[in-house]
Amino acid sequence: MIECREVQKYYGDYHALRGINLSIREGEFFSLLGPSGCGKTTLLRVIAGFEDISSGAVLIDGRHMEDVPANRRPTNMVFQSYAIFPHLSVAENVAFGLRRDPRPRPEKAAMVEEALEMVGLKGYGARAAHALSGGQRQRVALARALILKPKVLLLDEPLSALDRKMREQMQVELIKLQRQVGITFVLVTHDQEEALVMSDRIAVMFEGEIAQLDEPEALYARPASRRVADFIGVMNFLPARILDEADGGAQVDIPGLGVVDLPEGQVSRADADDSGPMIGFRPETMTLLGPGQASQQARETGAVIDEVVYYGDMTYYDLRLDGSARLNGNARTVRISMRNVFGREVPCVGTAVRLAWSPGSLVLFR
Ligand code: ATP
Repeated sequence: MIECREVQKYYGDYHALRGINLSIREGEFFSLLGPSGCGKTTLLRVIAGFEDISSGAVLIDGRHMEDVPANRRPTNMVFQSYAIFPHLSVAENVAFGLRRDPRPRPEKAAMVEEALEMVGLKGYGARAAHALSGGQRQRVALARALILKPKVLLLDEPLSALDRKMREQMQVELIKLQRQVGITFVLVTHDQEEALVMSDRIAVMFEGEIAQLDEPEALYARPASRRVADFIGVMNFLPARILDEADGGAQVDIPGLGVVDLPEGQVSRADADDSGPMIGFRPETMTLLGPGQASQQARETGAVIDEVVYYGDMTYYDLRLDGSARLNGNARTVRISMRNVFGREVPCVGTAVRLAWSPGSLVLFR
């Protein structure tokens, strides 16, 4: 549905997009995710036609867009600020999306009703827009953008002005809405959780480039670089020594964890920094064993609890692994997370514990 080929964008001397290549499939919920200033909004505006590109090509639905102005593209945009008119009614705000449409009035009124129903605002047409809650305003903006049934809906941080509860609710509603209308959604967000929850696929951007483009599960479990791993969720890093390499895989010695063999799928070569090989793992992939408790996992390691952070549904433990000071003298702490079970005691700081884990959850960054 959308294709970017080698898209470059300069603002004067500033190189905002550095050779973007991507294709977004029809009916996909696609997110552009990255820290502030990485160029994600610029890319969205390029797709919408609000920004020219310096070189490269953008195609939508198979057509080159270079000479197609924003209002003639099969796209529509929903902005962070909603941009709804407070002095108009809800229905008038939605009908604004039809202002250039030649259809007769009754037909337009029916379309407005249909669009309001789609976003869960059936019966709200006569209300004054200024009397709506933030979540309802966002729905009005959505209805207005969807009324002409664009092929692509572009969403620029549409939920960032909402409080956390409302944001989570709208995330689920947006997914449902997208499935229902079946059009392609492209979302810009700096919130990794939001991207993981909502997207079929995510492009992670840093400094005008796509660092990784993948499905949420793949991004989380197999990040292509330490930077992506660090940006998405929590990842522990431990220095490691490579003992042997064969067929794309590696045998590594990890102080605290011992020697493991990692197949090619667990080796990431995308990082070009000088910190040396690092092993990464997610906090929930290791388990604290209670006294006498056996585990199904392949390996066990001793550790001492350094810090306990209680979160209600779960607890984070910062641990010093036995033997982890072997490589460079400093025992690093690693963070693991455990779901809390009602009535089970939480071990306290200073306790010696056993950790169960499996080599399958490790990623080597080199
Ligand atoms: P944010 O989440 O903060 O909006 P972003 O990833 O969406 O960040 P962009 O808005 O795409 O980032 O901006 C990318 C870079 O381009 C930034 O460094 C920004 O300062 C610069 N930039 C954006 N628009 C312009 C402009 N019109 N003129 C000059 N520089 C610009």
